[in-house]
Amino acid sequence: MKSILVVGSGVAGMTAALEAAEHYDVTLLTKSDLSQSNTRYAQGGIAVVTTEGDSVESHVADTLLAGAGLSDQDAVQLLCEEGPAAFDELIDRGVKFDQVDGHLAHGLEAAHSHARILHAGGDATGAGIAYALIDQVRASKVSVRESTAAVDLVIEDLPDGGHRAVGVTLLNGEVVRADVVILATGGAGQLFPYTTNPEVATGDGVAMALRAGAVVSDLEFYQFHPTSLDAPDNFLISEAVRGEGAVLIDREGKRFMLDIHPDAELAPRDVVARAIAVQMAKQSGVPVRLDCTHLGADFLAKRFPNIDAACRAQGFDWGNEPIPVTPAAHYWMGGIRADEWGRTSIPGLYAVGEVACNGLHGANRLASNSLLEGAVYGTRCIAALADPPPPEHRDAEDCGADWAQPFALDLADHADADNFTRDDLQRLMWEFAGLTRTGDRMLAASRRLAAFSTPRVTDAKSAEDANLLIVSRAVVEMALAREESRGGHYRSDFPATLPAQAHHSSAVQK
Ligand SMILES: Cc1cc2nc3c(=O)[nH]c(=O)nc-3n(C[C@H](O)[C@H](O)[C@H](O)COP(=O)(O)OP(=O)(O)OC[C@H]3O[C@@H](n4cnc5c(N)ncnc54)[C@H](O)[C@@H]3O)c2cc1C
Repeated sequence: MKSILVVGSGVAGMTAALEAAEHYDVTLLTKSDLSQSNTRYAQGGIAVVTTEGDSVESHVADTLLAGAGLSDQDAVQLLCEEGPAAFDELIDRGVKFDQVDGHLAHGLEAAHSHARILHAGGDATGAGIAYALIDQVRASKVSVRESTAAVDLVIEDLPDGGHRAVGVTLLNGEVVRADVVILATGGAGQLFPYTTNPEVATGDGVAMALRAGAVVSDLEFYQFHPTSLDAPDNFLISEAVRGEGAVLIDREGKRFMLDIHPDAELAPRDVVARAIAVQMAKQSGVPVRLDCTHLGADFLAKRFPNIDAACRAQGFDWGNEPIPVTPAAHYWMGGIRADEWGRTSIPGLYAVGEVACNGLHGANRLASNSLLEGAVYGTRCIAALADPPPPEHRDAEDCGADWAQPFALDLADHADADNFTRDDLQRLMWEFAGLTRTGDRMLAASRRLAAFSTPRVTDAKSAEDANLLIVSRAVVEMALAREESRGGHYRSDFPATLPAQAHHSSAVQK
């Protein structure tokens, strides 16, 4: 029986493991416990076409618009078409989506033209999905290894001159071998000091792929959420709170978004996030505040039970006082370049979920499309293993945006490189390669990053630090190369979006 190694226990990894369990010998590695993932913390919901008034075409159109001219039409079409079946599968696997009068409750989110957001536990959709899938995984034949971090891919040369991924190494030097390796290691919010992502999001999959010589794409595109609580762990204060009427105020209590965009607090995410960062800089770093007090404590507790509990746990009585908020790194559009079946440039290596870049999100993710991506592509990568494999969904020529030829990234240490702390690296990335970038500042960041020495991997923390360093270098080099502004990549020295640059970036380590 073919053996499959899945790395990561978010929606993408657990979906792939469950799909594979019937036909293959499956091992699932995860570096913390099964529940630690971005998936577990997702709030708002999952975007799926489930009503008659809605349509796949409309979901596709909204996703393409959010992607700022860079979404791959083919990948988007697949997501939206296969979304309803993947959603039904989640229900079959025990996820309890919220209902009103015996019917699914549909929420509307910014940039969706229909109410197509299905949620669980009010604002605890990710937990609803994660714990249902965990129960299924534990009851399945999948062999689970928790607290087990993959450190590097094992790539073997083949007699025909080719090469293939055949497993991963662990911290203790053990090699876990498999016929197929599926990376589902999620994002890299820990590149930045402010992030909504949990501690496990350290870009490990992309780092492993870079070291193994795989092609990565669009690493320059990072989505920053405008409003996270300015307190340890940066708990996400959902856009829906502003949707209900909460307003952003400066140190003097004045609404500053009114001067910036006609939609004020409900302007696009990147606009609001940058405006907050500018305002914070004007206030010498003092966070701006989100005023929800006019909504009333009772309403807030009922409508946003999860956020209410998180605010209270940090000592904020948000029904009675404005709360400090800051933008925070939230979602990575870039990742290991993968095709419509999750296949990467290395035979035997697949990438699904946030770690992958199949072009679906383009330069900016449409809210609530990423949980769906994990469910859809987690299923597709297993379907691709069938013998014979399923036919290509569409002709490659139908892809909307081009994939550039990979360029070579120099990600090595300087000869005179010095130790660094994670805090140093995160501050550098925030200040020099965060919400607003310029060529000069990124060149400075590139030099500083080259002068950090890659730590020797002796434990989980040093492995993560080594990963964060190589990923930071790649993000900065790819952001330097894109001399325009688009979606999650904003350069004040190149503020325009240039039609000539409407192509995905691709790179490999030199
Ligand atoms: C606060 C928050 C709110 C969000 N809200 C929404 C929302 O409402 N709707 C939506 O669609 N999306 C939302 N997102 C985004 C969404 O949650 C993620 O994009 C999605 O869950 C990613 O799923 P994944 O399976 O690819 O990765 P993850 O869920 O992040 O899982 C990655 C897994 O890999 C493991 N791992 C990482 N490195 C290693 C390693 N070296 N070895 C072994 N295991 C490893 C991790 O421990 C983890 O288990 C939100 C994200 C956050 C942080």
